[in-house]
Amino acid sequence: MCGIVAYIGKKEAYPILIKGLKRLEYRGYDSAGICLLNSGLNVYKCKGKVADLEAFASSKDISGTVGIGHTRWATHGEPNDVNAHPHYSGNEKLALIHNGIIENYDPLKKELVKRGHIFKSDTDTEVLVHLIEDVQANENLSLAEAVRIALTQVVGAYAIAVMDKSDPNVIIGAKKGSPMVVGIGKNEFFLASDATPIIEYTNEVVYLEDEQIVELRVGQDPIVRSIENEVMTPYIHELEMKLEALEKGGYEHFMLKEIFEQPRSISDSMRGRYHVQSGTVTLGGISDYEQKMANAKRIIIVACGTSWHAGLVGEYLIEDLARIPVEVEYASEFRYRNPIINEDDVVIAISQSGETADTLAALELAKSKGATIIGVCNVVGSSISRITDAGSYTHAGPEIGVASTKAFTSQVTVLLLMALRLAHKKGSIAESRFQRILASLEKIPAQVEEVLQSAELVKYIAGQYKDSRNFLYLGRGYNFPVALEGALKLKEISYIHAEGYPAAEMKHGPIALIDAEMPVVVIAPSKGSYEKVLSNIQEVKARKGKIIAVVTKGDTSAAELADHVIEIPETEEELVPILASVPLQLLSYYIAVMRGCNVDQPRNLAKSVTVE
Ligand code: GLU
Repeated sequence: MCGIVAYIGKKEAYPILIKGLKRLEYRGYDSAGICLLNSGLNVYKCKGKVADLEAFASSKDISGTVGIGHTRWATHGEPNDVNAHPHYSGNEKLALIHNGIIENYDPLKKELVKRGHIFKSDTDTEVLVHLIEDVQANENLSLAEAVRIALTQVVGAYAIAVMDKSDPNVIIGAKKGSPMVVGIGKNEFFLASDATPIIEYTNEVVYLEDEQIVELRVGQDPIVRSIENEVMTPYIHELEMKLEALEKGGYEHFMLKEIFEQPRSISDSMRGRYHVQSGTVTLGGISDYEQKMANAKRIIIVACGTSWHAGLVGEYLIEDLARIPVEVEYASEFRYRNPIINEDDVVIAISQSGETADTLAALELAKSKGATIIGVCNVVGSSISRITDAGSYTHAGPEIGVASTKAFTSQVTVLLLMALRLAHKKGSIAESRFQRILASLEKIPAQVEEVLQSAELVKYIAGQYKDSRNFLYLGRGYNFPVALEGALKLKEISYIHAEGYPAAEMKHGPIALIDAEMPVVVIAPSKGSYEKVLSNIQEVKARKGKIIAVVTKGDTSAAELADHVIEIPETEEELVPILASVPLQLLSYYIAVMRGCNVDQPRNLAKSVTVE
């Protein structure tokens, strides 16, 4: 969380920083701020969004070819003007932006206060810039050296960019635990939390590693040092991202664009990985580890949020098809509960951004115990994809809407391919079933297209229930995680309380909530436990609950009982989660829009959760 961007070169920095911050706004939007070097080191910052910052800066001197910018997701100190980044050092000679948490900020702050430092904000970040100032002043060091020494005293996570009034031609960046990309242009450099602010200027980037410090000076090559002061040779990556993928492309919101992109994003997730004619699945990224995965005594999937829901579908798929025991863990719980991890375990981490702090830490723990670690990430070059032994990218394209949509369906697609591959390798799947699933998979993008045609119907249903205070989502088997995901989507963007439940569990508690005011979304496809789900619908009806049923095209039994019916095309049971999640995404989207909520930037949330 928190987006950081920096520019040093010959161009005006302000427009580059503002545009970059808008691209990074998905990472946080509690406040925004910039620092420009012009008549002095000038910080402009305010509570609110990047648009508020633009209004605020409109009367200020925004000239300058060196600058840093920040969009905040508050961890320490409420979202207000003072806590907004950048933060000055005490003598206002340095300015710093930060993504992460300085865990030992309190003892550091106490020590600095004793030494005469006066703090203005409640943030952990301000402590860091004072610490750098203190080190620099006491030992008369260059900025790069002061940053390096200060960071040796820091516990926690950071991606930072620092400017120095007395050395105007340099920006220093550093990272540990939070992401940082360096963009290398002609006589100009960029720093950012991800590549999106950089892509239109250069496609040459360096992903900084943990505990590395970069010195960017115009007219010189970037200098990368380790925290131990060892000079490192940076590896230059070539970006493949397309600029259009970062624009709304005529849609009102990124979320809607991303929902409608799913036929393509799912195709991209499968492209080149399955072959119906030869009846095979190949996942190049894991081929060297397939045998190990197939022989694993246990697979542990670690993830957070929507990715955790995809992980649950993955559990059902891998156990059902490949017959390998799977556990799905919240990464944040797994890492702190002293779990049993053996060398023959395989740990799969799922994360759209590949930067999720808890998932990354869970992987590091698994790695330290000797387990094989595999990644399922969307962002190429992300931290998780770099630390794993192997992995499969989802190739869904950039996801900007904070509520994840296309990332989920792509994760499920990749997990299905993985399950099929392992099943084939182990011989645990009948050839006829394997072929049936493959043939159905090929049809999925077109079928998602078909589901999207029910958008107007879903919008109508949204209008009927937009003022509800609670929602229940029910599903069984493969569709239980879909119910969880549907409820999460609604909570995230419309702020309506919603719960997802296994349909049969309803009678053990949530049924008490049902009355005429309670909409209940039931995923009731004709495959799987259809009759059982019908009984669950009856139970809701008997208590006057309102049923919105997602059914297979042509269904009549569920349709007779339900108040509203949304049809999805017929497919294999294993593939229903992909189709059934689409109308639920649309339902939450339209309800949120009708309630006047900020769909792409829901309150209190941010994408790419790089804090614990
Ligand atoms: N800890 C810093 C703050 O609260 C940065 C937060 C973050 O990166 O999410 O201002």
